[in-house]
Amino acid sequence: MELEDIKGIGSSILKKLNTLNIYNINDLLEDYPYRYNFINIIDINNAIENETCMVKAIIASEPKVQYIKRNFNRLNFKAISSNVILNVTIFNRAFLKNNLTINKEIVLVGKYNKLKNSFIASDIKFNISENKIEPVYHLVEGITNNNLIKFISNALEVVDGIPDYIPDYLNTKYHFLSKREALNLIHNPNNIEEIKRACLRLKYEELFNFMFKINSLKIINSKAKGIKRIVNKDELDKFILNLPFKLTTDQLKATEDIYNDLTNDNRMNRLVLGDVGSGKTVIATYAIYLNYLSGYQSALMAPTEILATQHFKSISKSLEKFNVKVALLTGSMKKKEKEQIIENLKNGEIDLIIGTHALISEGVEFRTLGLVVTDEQHRFGVGQRNTLRDKGVVPDVLYLSATPIPRTYALTIYGDLDLSLIKTKPNGRLEIITKVKKEDEIKDVLYQMLEQLKLGHQIYVVSPLIENNEEMDLRSVFDLAKKFNIAFGNKVKIGILHGKLKNKEKDEIMNQFKNNEIKILISTTVVEVGVDVPNSTMMVIYNAERFGLATLHQLRGRVGRNNVQSYCYLVSNKDTLRLKVLEESNDGFYISEKDFEMRGQGDLFGVKQSGEATFKIVNLKDDYQILLQVKKDTMEFIENKEYLKIAYYKKILEDINFIN
Ligand code: ADP
Ligand code: MG
Repeated sequence: MELEDIKGIGSSILKKLNTLNIYNINDLLEDYPYRYNFINIIDINNAIENETCMVKAIIASEPKVQYIKRNFNRLNFKAISSNVILNVTIFNRAFLKNNLTINKEIVLVGKYNKLKNSFIASDIKFNISENKIEPVYHLVEGITNNNLIKFISNALEVVDGIPDYIPDYLNTKYHFLSKREALNLIHNPNNIEEIKRACLRLKYEELFNFMFKINSLKIINSKAKGIKRIVNKDELDKFILNLPFKLTTDQLKATEDIYNDLTNDNRMNRLVLGDVGSGKTVIATYAIYLNYLSGYQSALMAPTEILATQHFKSISKSLEKFNVKVALLTGSMKKKEKEQIIENLKNGEIDLIIGTHALISEGVEFRTLGLVVTDEQHRFGVGQRNTLRDKGVVPDVLYLSATPIPRTYALTIYGDLDLSLIKTKPNGRLEIITKVKKEDEIKDVLYQMLEQLKLGHQIYVVSPLIENNEEMDLRSVFDLAKKFNIAFGNKVKIGILHGKLKNKEKDEIMNQFKNNEIKILISTTVVEVGVDVPNSTMMVIYNAERFGLATLHQLRGRVGRNNVQSYCYLVSNKDTLRLKVLEESNDGFYISEKDFEMRGQGDLFGVKQSGEATFKIVNLKDDYQILLQVKKDTMEFIENKEYLKIAYYKKILEDINFIN
């Protein structure tokens, strides 16, 4: 069954659902509420001054609309609630006018002022007769919360065969709800107990799926045979001695780990985890050089062309003097050029090829591929981690990631990989000065921006969303562009970057920024991790409360890339205590630790970090105990070959050649 078969979903709604990452019925059912409204209707006589309450009321006069200015209007009407006549006001809901007919029963949400007999409503609800729990979903323009409630309930009515991935014996052991029951309750609960039971079951399932993959990969990796290289240690050490700087302790340790991995006959599957700017590239280059010295080719894959090109420039420079032949392969190259490179790879004239993930998996052949390095691998791309090993070659693999997470979590999430942590930073790097600012302090921000522009520096401005969403009141990219065009527009060029642009357009804008034509780049979080524009010394992040600290830290890492003082301004009216952690520290591991500590309480599912496709319902910190249990259960599941009974899991193991 398709989404369009659900009552109420037509093609224009479908497009809007897509922007919420809902592409099929499963996505819809797994679009869990991020919080709940507890609807508790009280008698107006019990309302407390200045506290939001909900009261039933009957409309007593025709509503009047006043248009105050563009995008700002006020709607007034009289209503009777328990014999009290209220003057109701609600802002920016002019569109409700025709719905508010005399004698209609409504529920008013808002604040009551007894003295003035006024009620300032923040919301008006229809068709509510009793107290209940209302799920609240993330929205986009054109889709209301009620729409989603309806779509989901319609879907639950007609969908059959909802897959249940928890093995029967575990369902019995833990007395779990069925998948359908859990979905029913999470979207339409009667009480908190039901929410908890549904959550537990859905979390367990999500973690089971995840840990099953991690654990089976771990088992495969421990058995996999790799290349046992023989290298001339003196030649190899020349690389380190030739560097223009001394390696930090953690960098040295990482190179030793890699040396051991590559010279014994186990297959390397190592993750180098270190903050932005901690110097991971040089470690990767060391591995590539070692691999070269022992007679094998290497491939380095970056998530985007820009990053690939950047790596090509810096790595080919540092390997030039060692005669390593490096080539770049990107989609935008001419066909002839590509063919030549592919040919040279095949006959072994190229020692290192650098490109994007897509390119390298697309039928490129090697003479002797010995090492694959993947930069900025998405952290939960467990599925992706396998594609390489299916190409008939068994190269060693090195992953680089700039998303530091606390060690305990790292050991579990990356349980299938060996870890090298880079905690020490190269000396002499200036810390990024970070400040949290309220929106009404924006003058300070603009002043600092002007200072930076005067110095000839460039600025990133980041906003969480593309279009304005009234409900969430987030500064959109376009909104900001307008503002900054007014503030700076006639002096400097401003560029806009967001996820809805075509790749080519994105690259074009990024290049203009790199070439210092665009001075202020306003974007969503698509400013790619790892992009290096050393001349940019300032970042302004709007609605910073919407992001996890780790994400903010990673974003901030786009600046502070040379020896000039850099700045990061976090603009937010909320959550400033949490954001202040970033004022205090530039250490990604510390920040992620704090992030895990502070996140999630008042919010059932934790903050949904934008731009990171992680878990749908699991929050690693809150659910760590479940995770530990799941880790044990999945291990037993694998050891006892229970997977043979479930086609879904059997298939996964076949796909990664765990079983044939
Ligand atoms: P990452 O990939 O971890 O974000 P890079 O590898 O790009 O960081 O390193 C950032 C910069 O620091 C580069 O210019 C690199 O040459 C430099 N660098 C790396 N290691 C050291 C070191 N030990 N001492 C001084 N500078 C270093
Ligand atoms: Mg890097």
